Amino acid sequence: MAEAENRIAHRTCPLCEAACGLEIHVEGEKVSRIRGDKQHVLSHGFVCPKGVSLDRLHTDPDRLRRPLVKRKGAHVEVDWDEAYAEIEERMLPLIEKYGRNAVGIYLGNPNVHNQAGYLYVRPLIKSLATRNIYSSSTVDQIPRQVSSGLMFGSPFTMAVPDLDHTDLLLLLGTNPFESNGSLCTAPDFPGRIRAIQARGGRVIVVDPRRTRTARAADDHIFIRPGTDSLLLVAMLQAIFEEGLADVGALGKFLNGVEEIAAVVSRFAPERVADRCGIPAPRIRELAVEVARADSAAIHGRIGIHTCAFGTLASWAVDALSLLTGNLDRRGGSMFPRAAHSPSIVSAGGSGFQTGRWKSRVRGLPEVMSEFPAATLADEILTPGEGQMRGLVSVAGNPVLSTPDAGRLDEALAQLEFMVSVDIYCNETSRHADVILPPPSPLERSHYDVVFTTLAVRNFAHYSPAVFDSEGPSEGEILSKLTLIFGGQGAGADPGAIDEMLLRGLLEGHVADEESPVFGREIEELLAVAKEHPAPDAMLDVMIRMGPYGDAFGSRADGLSIGKIASHPHGIDLGPLEPRLPELLSTPSARIELAPPAILADFGRLDAALSEGDSSGLLLVGRRDIRSNNSWMHNIGSLVSGKDRCRLHLHPRDAASHGVADAEEILLVSRAGRIQVVVEVTEDIMPGVVSLPHGWGHDRPGTRLGVAQAHAGVNSNVLTDSERMDPLSGNAVLNGIPVSIESARPS
Ligand code: SF4
Repeated sequence: MAEAENRIAHRTCPLCEAACGLEIHVEGEKVSRIRGDKQHVLSHGFVCPKGVSLDRLHTDPDRLRRPLVKRKGAHVEVDWDEAYAEIEERMLPLIEKYGRNAVGIYLGNPNVHNQAGYLYVRPLIKSLATRNIYSSSTVDQIPRQVSSGLMFGSPFTMAVPDLDHTDLLLLLGTNPFESNGSLCTAPDFPGRIRAIQARGGRVIVVDPRRTRTARAADDHIFIRPGTDSLLLVAMLQAIFEEGLADVGALGKFLNGVEEIAAVVSRFAPERVADRCGIPAPRIRELAVEVARADSAAIHGRIGIHTCAFGTLASWAVDALSLLTGNLDRRGGSMFPRAAHSPSIVSAGGSGFQTGRWKSRVRGLPEVMSEFPAATLADEILTPGEGQMRGLVSVAGNPVLSTPDAGRLDEALAQLEFMVSVDIYCNETSRHADVILPPPSPLERSHYDVVFTTLAVRNFAHYSPAVFDSEGPSEGEILSKLTLIFGGQGAGADPGAIDEMLLRGLLEGHVADEESPVFGREIEELLAVAKEHPAPDAMLDVMIRMGPYGDAFGSRADGLSIGKIASHPHGIDLGPLEPRLPELLSTPSARIELAPPAILADFGRLDAALSEGDSSGLLLVGRRDIRSNNSWMHNIGSLVSGKDRCRLHLHPRDAASHGVADAEEILLVSRAGRIQVVVEVTEDIMPGVVSLPHGWGHDRPGTRLGVAQAHAGVNSNVLTDSERMDPLSGNAVLNGIPVSIESARPS
């Protein structure tokens, strides 16, 4: 018998935003061990429990290998042709009868962690030609994109904290010791925090929970959930009052400082202190510390974005950086330069806009062409012209991850036809009439198209697939759907989409007089790119034409996908460097510090502050390093041991409600009620309770054996689809008013 081949594969972990390098030891067709790649240019060997479990996702017997079609209410395995034919036969008549908006699409978070999601989802949306587009963006990060769009002109121009050079790091509503960082790709975030402290810097955490990150910080400030915008705006007021505002060189291309000075004058620390739960002198001290630091990086994340003033809070983070001279400078907040990103950003035009059309039922404005996920159930359940009757869900589990989850669960059950592209039959895809499973993460090549644009140090890393895939690639699956919905039929060749994408990428360059490939034959460049199979061929074009690229031989020593692939531990492209005004794409080609939408939102903030506070309990979420939204809960090694899905409650609140540790209670909100076990802890602010999200794996009809045995409870039964940040449409997931009731039979 031939001996099994032993080899080591190096690849970027695709599971979270940290993008760590993994060293995967393979014996024959089996992974024998996964550990951190010590030579990786960004992660230097760091790895978390999820990364070392990547092979268990690959070998999970519950992971779907073949398509499922629902027959007489139960899913049965079919071959790919039968699955595609079913979609064509049943979805196209719906579109024909009720119109294009009758079929919607939902895109889950894993789409941003793989190349296919980045490249092939756009043609799919185009072929559906529907306005009913939803994604996890509106339960997560869209406020950050809206504030960036308003200030800098593009929702993709997002500043990240220059962790490796800062003297002061201020973190709000983020717990990178558990999450590994978000909208800030920084593998070994904890190590980078310790390095700040080791070089004499300081780290301050503002959070309603004493998280692991807060415990490691030099200072932790408890804050009442949902009030970060007030804290940040009061800090701005204090900075103006103390005469500490200093925009440095950015003053040459900056509008709106006077308007902001005027509007924040209404929010002195003394006015917001009680609401935030932070004494006014402490707010002033914090403002002065940020302003006087040699350099300061301010980073806010999910806790500040998933609130009623998420966009305003995100704007205030950048405003604070800017007005303390810390935007676009070493040690402050800076803009990464990824190898595949366009090298030129064009200023002018009409700028970033929202509200170009409205949702049918609630009249909610589109943001980045999407409607809020919080209104998806409304569009399915509300009769009338334009009612959604079909849905395509790609790598999403909104039944666990979006607000008022119980109502969405009911809504999906009423759809006339649903397709899911998913590796699992989960709480959402169980409703699908057809489930199409893409390959496992080890069966696809990987280049991180999204998170290299958010990295704290510029880098590029390409990983080939570790194993061949038995089924079609995710790109092929999405191309097939694109062709079906575009009317070309289930039998059409998916290679046509690859060709269209490739030509589309090249056409602009050869026609652009400023481009190094201006006037060259498109067929010549196509032939070069096609040396790689799709989607690597598309990436090759993007990288060659990117800021470090070889421009198809026009720039000696430039990058191509082949060159990046020849560096298995990645290529270091250096520290972040100032990028303004190059990046500005506002109509004025200046930073718009006081965009009208932000100025108008101060009126809403003022009104909310004047209204008074609710004195009841407020629910917030929390992260756990072994969990990743809902989709890693079927891996035994990640869910074993201590039950993590417990309600954290402060001892004072436990006493006032007569609740004991480990007791089961009913937690009730306007939207719903759940039964949950309490964990009494001093690591939470009095008046606040906390529950992780992504749990509640007790629905019938799923194929998640391990997750069902560790079901937990769905916190989104309690979150309220009526509450959102109106500027971005982001759901309010933090600061939900709740009450405790006895679970004992009366
Ligand atoms: S931190 Fe994220 S990227 Fe790194 S190993 Fe863990 S899951 Fe993977």
